[in-house]
Amino acid sequence: MLASIGFRLVRWVAAIALLLALPPSIAAAQTPITTKCESAPLMAAFTVFGETGKMPPDLGKFLADAKLQKIEPYKAFDNVYYVGICWVSAWLITSPHGDVLIDTLYGDYTKMLLDNIRKVGVDPNDIKLVLVTHGHFDHAGGIAELKAALPPTTRFAMTKEGWREGAENAATGRPIPWKMIEPDIVLRDGQTLTAGDISVQAFETPGHTMGTASFAYDVRDGSRTYRAITVGGLGLNAIQGPEQVEAYIASVKRIRAMTYDKTRPIELHLTTHGFSNGLTEAKEKLKSRGPGDPHPLVDIVGFRQQLDALQDGAEKRLIVERAKKAKP
Ligand SMILES: [Zn+2]
Repeated sequence: MLASIGFRLVRWVAAIALLLALPPSIAAAQTPITTKCESAPLMAAFTVFGETGKMPPDLGKFLADAKLQKIEPYKAFDNVYYVGICWVSAWLITSPHGDVLIDTLYGDYTKMLLDNIRKVGVDPNDIKLVLVTHGHFDHAGGIAELKAALPPTTRFAMTKEGWREGAENAATGRPIPWKMIEPDIVLRDGQTLTAGDISVQAFETPGHTMGTASFAYDVRDGSRTYRAITVGGLGLNAIQGPEQVEAYIASVKRIRAMTYDKTRPIELHLTTHGFSNGLTEAKEKLKSRGPGDPHPLVDIVGFRQQLDALQDGAEKRLIVERAKKAKP
């Protein structure tokens, strides 16, 4: 018994030493992805994916497990609900005269999304506008299914390049079969869209993909109104050369500047991937929030730190991509 405990202890010490000797992202990747959608191990696994271009097998399994992906939809603000799954967000902005949805999920998760919308008391038939951040399957993969499920008057919006990249990606049938729809609204940089009583400003923020858009909108918390942004793409997993990384860095700088805007500064980030900024943990604090407590998702310091980290990662990647290009 003692020997067995001793052996286990040695194994633990060895494991911890191994972790300490590794760079933080890799070390954290050794932490198994668990069943509760914790941010840190997912972030680490996705960092490995971004750096190597290879999906860690644990992560692949986790993403495909509908039971583990399911999370209860919740009210994030008086007019905004989270209706996504563990690893990909979908945000529903509501108003008395119609609603706006950001991103479509994919495969069977799009059905989960529609269920989530009903669960929070919204009729999908009241969705007037679907904004799609970019043409990757996890954000755009459910677009055809939603178009079929929602009223014919519901509009869909992406950037010009977003529509193009979506069609190109859907045509590959990877990593799952999915369909794009014909382009509907083509977003222009800085354009304000209105639907129901909602105004959303769209920005072209190329980098994660060249067609990535980000969306700014008001969120209400009692008598307070905050300006939120959903940054359309975060990872460096689809980089095709130094020019794309340069665009990414410029977009991050632009978004950071928006947080210092004199008239309507961005005050918080409603992310497209909850693990990227600890949304999964922050939203738990909503449950125990007392009257007068600060809103746990309003975190401008955390958002700027996230932007700094994104820029830092991209600057390192730029060196790698430039070196690759310089090789004959
Ligand atoms: Zn993407």
